[in-house]
Amino acid sequence: MQHSTNAKNTQNALMEITSRPAIVFTKGRGSWLYDSDGKAYLDFIQGWAVNCLGHSPAALVAAISDQAETLINASPAFFNQPMLDLAAALTGGAGLDQLFFANSGAEANEGAIKLARKWGQLHRNGAYEIITTDHAFHGRTLATMAASGKEGWDTMYAPSLSGFPKVPFGDLAAMAAAINPNTVAVMVEPIQGEAGVIDADDSYMLGLRALTEAQGILLIADEIQTGMGRTGKMFACQHTGITPDIMTLGKGIGGGVPLAALLAKQSVCCFAHGDQGGTFNGNPLMTAVGLAVWEELNKPGFLGHVVAVGDYLTKGLEALSAKHGLGKVRGRGLLQALDLKQPLGGAIVAAALDAGLILNAPRSDTLRFMPALNIAEAEVEQMLEMLDGVIAEMV
Ligand SMILES: *Cc1c(COP(=O)(O)O)cnc(C)c1O
Repeated sequence: MQHSTNAKNTQNALMEITSRPAIVFTKGRGSWLYDSDGKAYLDFIQGWAVNCLGHSPAALVAAISDQAETLINASPAFFNQPMLDLAAALTGGAGLDQLFFANSGAEANEGAIKLARKWGQLHRNGAYEIITTDHAFHGRTLATMAASGKEGWDTMYAPSLSGFPKVPFGDLAAMAAAINPNTVAVMVEPIQGEAGVIDADDSYMLGLRALTEAQGILLIADEIQTGMGRTGKMFACQHTGITPDIMTLGKGIGGGVPLAALLAKQSVCCFAHGDQGGTFNGNPLMTAVGLAVWEELNKPGFLGHVVAVGDYLTKGLEALSAKHGLGKVRGRGLLQALDLKQPLGGAIVAAALDAGLILNAPRSDTLRFMPALNIAEAEVEQMLEMLDGVIAEMV
């Protein structure tokens, strides 16, 4: 079938859940995407911080084709080798004991919520409340929407699931004050990604770990966006050396294919047979890809590259900000944001796309940068030059 570049004007059968530009992407290589007219775009969203190794990296192409020829799906009722190997690798890397594979971040968080509630039934007199934070993003299922702190999400599909009291992100005293006998867990993102790359001081995660331990409740770290090397450590919790009781992973874990996981300490792993499951969970095709991603991220120098290029990006954005009178740069590693101090995000993203640069504005006054983790410094430089040109025409 011939794809039309003018996708907007063709009657398509997709529900319109967002406004999409009239572009059809047909090919991706490394940090570059190509549309059906052959135009090249430098990609600084990478499938939403998903393609951690860029587009169609050789290691993933090989893992997908090898596994596809070997075994695609034996059913979740049986073990398969990639599932076992990836589970061992991830739990070992995270300092946790067991995991459950899911197919999306929301599904992993949904499982984390179930696991915490089950643990509360068994060990905390039926406590079920999970305290989350304002502006948090935990997914789009009904439970994870309720856990999220996005404005309007509590009434969008009313009635909303109860049991998710909210406190301001970064406010340890507010968290301490919210804990009560009904509380079973605290759930946070180490850096709030969708909220606009909002990072708390390291003392926040350290404080949450101490607080939850003292209160005998669980700490759930949603590392779906911050995990898998995105912030320069394999997991963002490792910046402070804390180990959460439950950690969820998604996005980069599959390098672009649907894969997610819910990891936990042994003492929290209390699912009984029948409590949790799912048709595609732990299928060998996706877990073989996860294994290939894991091996790449663990190669010597890989995370050092993320730190070095991340620093280069920070310095470049800071220089750009000083030149154009913009605000602060936030974030860590290759998850960064530039505060524009004015609602120009949408206009900059649109102009950048025309110029062949793909960016994201999670808020009207914020640009977010989440390139491939193996992006070259020269490509970051190229992005900075393109962005400089776009901003110069606007401010
Ligand atoms: C993207 C994201 C999710 C949801 O993941 P999906 O795969 O879209 O369901 C949950 N939490 C955080 C922190 C995320 O960034």
